[in-house]
Amino acid sequence: MHRSRNCGAARLAWVPVALWMLAVAPAALAQAESDCFQLTRELRALKTPVAGARSEDLKSCFYTLHVHAVRVTDSCPGVRSAAIDPEQVRRWVEKANEIYGAAGVRFEFDPTPKSGDWALLPSTEVNDLSAELPGDIGWERGKSMGNELAAHFPGKVLLLFRHGPGDAPTGGGFSSTKYNFVALPGYNVTTVCGGQNEFLFAHEMGHYFGLNHTFRQFKTQAAAAEALRSAGNKPSAFDADGIAETPPEPYIEDLQCASDTTVSLNGIPFSLHRDNIMSYYRSGTKRLTPEQIRVVRNWVERRFADAMDRLGPFVPDERRTYLIVSAENGKSLEVAGASVEKGAKVVPADWNGTASQNWEIVPLTAQDAGSFEIVSSASGKCLTVESGGDEGASLIQWDWEGGRNQKWRFTQDKTGDLVIEAKQSRKVLTVAGGPQAMGVKLVPPAPEGAQSQRWRLVPQD
Ligand SMILES: [Zn+2]
Repeated sequence: MHRSRNCGAARLAWVPVALWMLAVAPAALAQAESDCFQLTRELRALKTPVAGARSEDLKSCFYTLHVHAVRVTDSCPGVRSAAIDPEQVRRWVEKANEIYGAAGVRFEFDPTPKSGDWALLPSTEVNDLSAELPGDIGWERGKSMGNELAAHFPGKVLLLFRHGPGDAPTGGGFSSTKYNFVALPGYNVTTVCGGQNEFLFAHEMGHYFGLNHTFRQFKTQAAAAEALRSAGNKPSAFDADGIAETPPEPYIEDLQCASDTTVSLNGIPFSLHRDNIMSYYRSGTKRLTPEQIRVVRNWVERRFADAMDRLGPFVPDERRTYLIVSAENGKSLEVAGASVEKGAKVVPADWNGTASQNWEIVPLTAQDAGSFEIVSSASGKCLTVESGGDEGASLIQWDWEGGRNQKWRFTQDKTGDLVIEAKQSRKVLTVAGGPQAMGVKLVPPAPEGAQSQRWRLVPQD
């Protein structure tokens, strides 16, 4: 355990929510296949004839999406926890990848404890989410909180594993294009035909990416026949998705676990789309149709293209230690004189390989989600804006006290360099007095960016 990361002070009751998405390139990205986000950006920038040639590449590229899995409990932590663990999330994600691979979409989830893909959230409002109930105060509040949390992870798919209202856990999940999270139940409480529902995550991801059910739902064959009769025996009464590849389907609960692939109602034959991911009928395999793939890819772009633009929030990896290096003069931030005392200045200096130039970057949570403590590996003290904190203030190390002058945000600019902003003042870390200067202070960001305000995190492990 890295107690030194705590800056010697007691933490809030919130469980640290770790973040990472762009800091570590997954091994899979090292392969030759191209990244769809990158490719579509390039295509937008190209003139038509070239774009025409490159658009062929869209058929073989992949959208890689990181999953951020949150196990929700009541606000009193630990009460009515959703029954889910990281390994179970991994299994669901793996199953979804078997289906969405055909769409060129790949979900990534790292189940190791410090990966940052896994977090806990004590919130009774979110824990009570049961279904979409527009206008219901509980739903509206829970939805807002889910959307708010999703905003802190702009490049990730947010999964909220919740218990549901009442004493017994829900077995259902839901999602939609109208909000930015996927509500899911515990792993083993969701069953289909007596077994664990291995396709549930993939199904809800379908809704999240704009897919509707393939069917209209009925308890019995007689009820379906009756409904068809009242609709003038028009098969289109059972069309729920408007997709020609999945003709109107009656979903008859009594047949869910059977193996029928057709059913006749009032003399009209219907195909059952057992192997479609948006059908409720049980099947050992599930898939997407070409039209469903088109819808999904469209929604992946709509939801994530901006976040994947490399501009905007940057998330360091809390498992590593970093040098914080000025893009202007190549110097590294260090605690002056390798001091371990409160109040020691933090200054740029030539690299010397000592721990007083190493920093751990620890994500904060709750209302501070998206901000970080920057902790000296040598002293365990935190990068802090010196008292006053006004323009031109300099930097010191201090015990963690949770002050706004100890919270930092990282933004990546077009060059890939980072701007480091104090949450307190929105002023940014700047090398003072030109390239040779040995000071660092906090000043307002230059409108077009400035070399003296650009930094690089260089991992040391
Ligand atoms: Zn559904």
